[in-house]
Formats: sequence, C-alpha cells, structure tokens
Amino acid sequence: MASNHVLYESGTQLAMHLPMTHDAMPVGVPSDLYFHVVEQSTIATSITDLKANIIYANNAFTRVTGYEADEVIGKNESILSDHNTPKMVYQALWGRLQQKKTWNGVLVNRRKDGTRYLADVTIAPVLNADGEVTHYLGMHRDVTDMHRLEQQVLNQKTLIESVINLAPMAIAVLNTEGRIELDNLEYKALMSDSRGGEPARLILDALKKQHGGRAVGRDFNAMEVCIEMSYGRKARWYACSGTWFKESDERAESFFERANADHLLLVASDITDMKAQQDVVRSNAMRAILAKQELIQSLREVLSGAAFQLQGPLNVMGAVVQMLKQREEPGGCTSSMIEALDQALDTGHETVAMLEACKPAEPVEDVSSVDLNELLRDVISISGERIQQLGVVLDWLPETDLPLMQGRAWKLRGAFKQLVDNALDALERTEGRHRELRVRTESGDGMIKVHICDSGPGIPEDQRRRIFEPFFTTKRDESASGMGLPTCQNVISEHSGMIWVENSVLGGVCLRLQFSNHADSYGDGI
Ligand code: FAD
Repeated sequence: MASNHVLYESGTQLAMHLPMTHDAMPVGVPSDLYFHVVEQSTIATSITDLKANIIYANNAFTRVTGYEADEVIGKNESILSDHNTPKMVYQALWGRLQQKKTWNGVLVNRRKDGTRYLADVTIAPVLNADGEVTHYLGMHRDVTDMHRLEQQVLNQKTLIESVINLAPMAIAVLNTEGRIELDNLEYKALMSDSRGGEPARLILDALKKQHGGRAVGRDFNAMEVCIEMSYGRKARWYACSGTWFKESDERAESFFERANADHLLLVASDITDMKAQQDVVRSNAMRAILAKQELIQSLREVLSGAAFQLQGPLNVMGAVVQMLKQREEPGGCTSSMIEALDQALDTGHETVAMLEACKPAEPVEDVSSVDLNELLRDVISISGERIQQLGVVLDWLPETDLPLMQGRAWKLRGAFKQLVDNALDALERTEGRHRELRVRTESGDGMIKVHICDSGPGIPEDQRRRIFEPFFTTKRDESASGMGLPTCQNVISEHSGMIWVENSVLGGVCLRLQFSNHADSYGDGI
C-alpha cells in the first residue's frame, strides 16, 4: 500500500493521471512505466468511470477476486459487493467521492466463486488538469486473515478479562515502573476501599518491609499483607502471590531487535475471615500457654519467696546456736536446748531445700529476634474481650518500623500480659470514670521503649517504691499474690531492660519499659 500512496496520492486527492495521458506525465518518467508499475502491483487495482464501471483491472485484482480482467471490464464494481456490507457504508463511500476525497474502509466482498473475503479498500478520485473528476482508482487487499487474527486476539482478551473479572481475588499486572496495565473488578473494588490508594503499591511496600527494605524482584507466594481500609472499616488481610513474566515489546522500533518487557502478575486473595478464625485459635492457645507460664512463674516466685522468708529466721537461729555453743559450760543446762535448736535448724534447712526442689522447672525458650509490637498486639488481642467488657477505650499506638530486638518471646509476652492485666484491674476499680488504656511503643538512640498507661486510680507515692517488692500488693483481692510486678521486673532485667512507674497524664499510672536493641545486649543471666 505504501508504494501506491507515494505514487498516487497527494493529500486527500489523487495526483496521478491515467497512465495513458502523456501530457501530464512527470518529466523523465516514461508513461509505460506507470502502466507496468500498476499492472505488477501486489494490490488489487482497478480504474472505473464515474459510475464505477470498470475500465481497467490489474493482475492482483484477478488474484484476489478470481475475475479475469476481460470478465469485469464494463461491469460495475458492485459485482464484488456482498449484502453483508451495510448500505450506509456505500453511502459514506460515495459521499466522500462526491466531495472529491479519498475513501478508505473495509467491505465484505464476494469472489467469482462466491466465497467472501474482507477487503481493505481505498478509492480515490482521479482528477484532470482542470481539477474535475474523470475516473476513480480502486485499490484493495484481502485482510480476512489479519481480521481473523485480530478477532482471535480480541476474543482471547475478552475471555481472559471475563475469567479474571470472575475470579474471587484481586488481580493486577504491573510494569517495571509499577504502573497498572491490567486489573480486574476485585482489584478495582479493593482500590476504592483501601485507604492508602493503589493496593499494588501497598502490597509491594509491605512485602519490601518484610524483605528488610529490599524491593521484591523475584516471584513470591502466599505472603500475608494487611491493608488498611477507609471509612472506619477494619483492616483486611490478603495472601499475595507475584509472578514475573516477560512480554514482547510491540513497538515498531523493536521489530528487528526483539526486546522484552518485564511484568508482574500480582494476585491477592482476601484471607481476613480465615485470619480471624486463626486468630481466635491462636489467642486461645496463647491464653492457655500464658496462663500455664504465669502459674509456673508465680509458683516459682512464691516458693523462692517462701524459702527466702524462711531463710531469715533460720540464719538468726543459726547465729543463736553458735553463740550458745561458745558459751556452753560442761554439764551446763544449755546442751539440751542447743540440741533442740540444732534439730529445728536442720528441719528448717531441709524445708528450704524442699521448697527449692519443689520449684517447677522454667519452660525452655530460645532467644530469637522479637518484634515488641507483635507481642503487644498478641496481648491486646487476648485481652480484647475484657477490654470490651470493661468499656475501656484502647489507644494502641505502635511505632511503625520498630526495630527488632533479641529476646524470649513468651517471657516478654507474659510480662506484657501482666502489665496490661494490672492496668485493666486498676481500671475495673474506677467506677463512673472514663476508662482508658494507652499502649505505645517508640524507638530511638538504640533503645526501644514501651509505655503502658491507664486512667485508673493510680498508686500512692509512698507505695510506688514497693510495688516491685515480692508479695507487696495494693489489691484487696485475696487472689493477688503480689508476685506479678517482681516477676515482670525479673523478665525485663533478663532482657537488660528497665521498668519504672510514673504518673500518667490519663490520671492513673504509666509503666515505662526500656530495652536496648543492640544484638549483644541480651542479658544471659537466665
Ligand atoms: P449501489 O446501488 O451500487 O450503491 C449503493 C449506494 O451507493 C446507493 O445509496 C447509491 O446511491 C450509491 N451510489 C452508487 N453508485 C453511485 C454513484 N455513481 N454516485 C453516487 N452514489 C452512488 N463495492 C464493493 O462492494 N466492493 C468493492 O471492492 C468496490 N470497489 C469499488 C471501486 C471503485 C473504484 C468504485 C468507484 C466503487 C467501488 N465499489 C465497491 C462500490 C460499488 O460501486 C457499489 O457502489 C457497491 O458495491 C454497492 O453496490 P450495490 O449494488 O449494493 O448498491
């Protein structure tokens, strides 16, 4: 087609005169050269009079239509027409020609043998030197195969789009710049619901965070990502998979030098309900483990405390026996007393040894990298029911990007649970007042800090120093052992941390914890 356009067209009007009109030939171009060019052109070419009666048809016309030139000369071009082409198309065609303009379009044509084909037709008016139309030049190509291919591609695209739109998961295809090139209805719905905008970006950012800040450049599977939702709706969880694939570059400049473009197929399935069920199971399991751990810990502390309490008087008794022995005179009356005291001392030491031996063994737990936000989130989730029952307003303010630290997750979880329980106990004692619990994490200067503050009744100044002493309790409740905070303090100390109490702006107290997040800072005293 391109060569014909160069030869014949000038703007919208055909500049070429018929091959036989010598007077209008460009200088230096023999007139029969025009004839041979047209005759041998691979485009089906015909020339008609103003009523579309054919006066010339080239070899390609015969190849495409099946009609020999002498069969069509004198016949109208409508010999090729098929009723599948709407009338309005011909009207548009003739409308353009009457304006002396070239028409281009697709017609359904019939060959001599009756078979149909799609013709990409260009018809141009041929003007004489006075600018009057004397003839029409028709050029057409059989584009049936190309159309079939186009339709197949379109059908496949429609099929793929229907399938991905019906899929119950969000699907998107991204290019290397992160631009969405294809997405489905679920993805669009997620896009309008998610607070942070483009879900693919949120997912990839979350995955990057999970990869320690490195971009995800390879395939990934079933990675769980939480996406915040707008309009006060709960965050939703997605299991995300990504597959990188290469697509051929369709641009003209890549025709000879094949280039591939990388794309990421991102699939995100909503697993919020499954996560919620898992959370219930996990919370129950965690509650059971923490209760057992708490029991073991308090038993250990109580037995240690009891042994310690007993050891004091035993030490005094030992000193008295020593004194009596030094002062004893032969045949004196103190020997039977010393004997009785010795026996009592032995029994006392045996009891202390027995108490120590009765201490249940501490559960073995390895040191690993722990995320305090995650541990606190666990504790809040376990305490969720109680928080709701007490009508407590919870401010959970985790620092995003809180560094990890080395520690024993279950021990720390247990300590946090104790502190949250204490705060809730305190809040339970406040009648008719606003109940608020604030749990906050922060980091800086190599430290990780946790603040657990409440709007409860607070702790009187004179008792503050004593709350970490074993057996000290401000609770009237008989079940309170007074071992919670000392146990907590032990756990925090084992993690080279500190715990102290301060007044809270909420009205109650703030338990403040501080840990070092250096890898070598984990205390090895346990
Ligand atoms: P027609 O009765 O021929 O025409 C249909 C409509 O076109 C009518 O509304 C009529 O008013 C209008 N019309 C027809 N002739 C003229 C005219 N001379 N001036 C103004 N309006 C007119 N058709 C094909 O189907 N396939 C082709 O490959 C093809 N190639 C062509 C090549 C050339 C160079 C020209 C000039 C025309 C070509 N045509 C082609 C158009 C063809 O001439 C017919 O118009 C068309 O095939 C419709 O034929 P028809 O018998 O169904 O209706």
